[in-house]
Amino acid sequence: MQSISPETIFRGVDAWRKALPQITKLTKSPLILGRSDYTLDLRNKIFKDLKNQNLNVNFANLNFDCCYEDISRIKNIILRNNNDSVIAAGGGKVLDSGKYIAECLDIPCITVPLSASTCAGWTALSNIYTKNGQFIKDIALRSCPKVLIYDHTFIQTAPLRTLASGIADALAKWYESSITSSRIDDGLVQQAVQISRVLRDQLLIDGEKAFNGEFENNPFWSNTIEACGITAGLVGGIGGEKCRTAAAHAFHNAFTQIITPNKFFHGEIVGVGILLQLRLEEMKNNNKLANQSIKQLLGLMKILNLPTTIAQLGIDVFENNNLEKIADFTYRDKSEIHFLPFEICKQDIVEVITNFEKQETKI
Ligand SMILES: [Zn+2]
Repeated sequence: MQSISPETIFRGVDAWRKALPQITKLTKSPLILGRSDYTLDLRNKIFKDLKNQNLNVNFANLNFDCCYEDISRIKNIILRNNNDSVIAAGGGKVLDSGKYIAECLDIPCITVPLSASTCAGWTALSNIYTKNGQFIKDIALRSCPKVLIYDHTFIQTAPLRTLASGIADALAKWYESSITSSRIDDGLVQQAVQISRVLRDQLLIDGEKAFNGEFENNPFWSNTIEACGITAGLVGGIGGEKCRTAAAHAFHNAFTQIITPNKFFHGEIVGVGILLQLRLEEMKNNNKLANQSIKQLLGLMKILNLPTTIAQLGIDVFENNNLEKIADFTYRDKSEIHFLPFEICKQDIVEVITNFEKQETKI
């Protein structure tokens, strides 16, 4: 069984308003799930609009990440309120929590991404973290969300840093799926990999222009947010579990194990993971194009103010046994690093990180 896409997708500047009749058909008592303060105004608008449709609406917020503590607390709130759907309105952590909770309770989930930071509004996947943001595992869900509402006016209000992060996460689709899936003899997987290549090209060419001037009349902005929030999700939907994440996300998951004072977005960490994956390909798979790819990526990442070293993620790999901890987590049995089509050992990870940090930070 493969769930390729949400059942219904509303996109564009008026998506939320257009979706309202569908929502009222689907649910009588939704719970709006959110998290951060800066999206509160939007969630209040969503609440008011649903109240005006005579729905019985409740609110709940995550206290932490998409973690078991919040998930079980919110589940109890929904059971107490008798809510018949979850409307997850926020970034990746909120969307992932909403999808997982709705699946556990067998009620529909409506995703309303409030930034372009991930494709979590689309996918049948939830990443579970600890309260402190340390990655635990990802859970494959039975289906994609019932409805995805990708409202451009909502996404316009998000900080630009979320868009840069979404670009890095969407770029990873190509670097990861092409290396794990290029030898898979399945037409749909091949097509998913090709879509991710077009997606990468579009982001490399137009990504920077998305940040220029007013969003309203900037087609590069709308194309870029849809590339990050919609196309990246489609690649995962068509490619399914065979079109896998690889080393970039394995490094991401390992970096989250080190708790730092400042939190970084998912895509910001994945971006550094892509650079490390390419160095690993160069070292262990004799990939002569890796260095070119790194130069090309660094150009865009620096313009977008994305971190390009582990140190810029607030982690000094040369202290507190951090390197050992990162290598252990990256190389653990369940890690995505093992989807790479060439053999590596834990020492290779230590070596690639050491060389990368020394070279990129010019110690
Ligand atoms: Zn990701």
